[in-house]
Amino acid sequence: MATVLKASPIVKQYAADLKQECAKLKANGITPFLKVILVGQHPPSVTYTKNKKKFMEGIGAKCEILKLDEQVSEKVFIETIASVANDKEVHGLFVQLPLPKALAHIDVGQLVPSEKDVDGFHANNLFKVLSGDCGEKALVSCTPKGIITMLKHHKIDVTGKSVAIIGRSLIVGKPLSMLLTNLNATVTLCHSRTTQLKEITKGADIVIAAIGKAKFINKDYLSDDKKTIVIDVGINYDASGKLCGDVDYDDVENHCSHITPVPGGVGRMTILSLAQNLIKAASSLAKDS
Ligand code: NDP
Repeated sequence: MATVLKASPIVKQYAADLKQECAKLKANGITPFLKVILVGQHPPSVTYTKNKKKFMEGIGAKCEILKLDEQVSEKVFIETIASVANDKEVHGLFVQLPLPKALAHIDVGQLVPSEKDVDGFHANNLFKVLSGDCGEKALVSCTPKGIITMLKHHKIDVTGKSVAIIGRSLIVGKPLSMLLTNLNATVTLCHSRTTQLKEITKGADIVIAAIGKAKFINKDYLSDDKKTIVIDVGINYDASGKLCGDVDYDDVENHCSHITPVPGGVGRMTILSLAQNLIKAASSLAKDS
């Protein structure tokens, strides 16, 4: 039976550190402040933003969700981001994705100043990661950062390991491939045009699924030696409406060495990373002011 890499003990430990750092900042007159821009009523986005607010408040930070109507014009949307970005009280800002179709073409990562870019989407932050940073200087994209934190916490050294990431989005797969490369892993970044996907994943020490397809990865994708570490990024619903990942957990759990659950795995690590980025942004902005 695989070791289940649950997020809760890790989150508990790091949240306690963040609480202390937040208290220190507050003692110096700085209350870390996250502002979230939410357009429309997309139900998962409403839930995600609520969860993020709850977590930030739990560590003592301030968090506000600025709700915009689904029909908001591009002009008002961009002006709103600019106004929040210029607010000196705000240390971190992100736009909850996905955006409605009419706004989906906008590269929000470039509208948020890099020093407040707690989602790690700004070109400056991405370039630092591309240049070899693992979060020392950059604000790193939250899901990849959370996965690295989880691996480090469990003392899983990726040096020399072969990692297959399935999914090449700018939010998950691409930055994660860079972070793991910076940590000396050998990464194969797979996508929908990858041929012989099973051969690649079967040969990998670590398989990371960020596909967006319920239970896509089953035991046929894993090495027969049952030593693969499986990280499931996916958040989907199965045919019966139950929350599930991109990995068929029941099929895989006896055919791998470690596995992250859904829920209770990567998703919670992502929120932790957001809080870490907020505290980092608030500390840096405080030093610069
Ligand atoms: P995207 O839709 O942006 O990307 C999906 C990727 O999967 C693409 O690169 C696509 O390839 C690839 N893909 C699709 N079908 C296949 C296939 N049959 N074989 C191989 N590759 C395939 O998704 P995201 O990266 O935004 O999200 C992925 C999943 O992770 C979703 O379930 C999402 O909800 C979840 N997620 C979870 C987070 C968390 O905190 N746990 C945070 C962010 C996302 P191509 O590029 O060729 O189209």
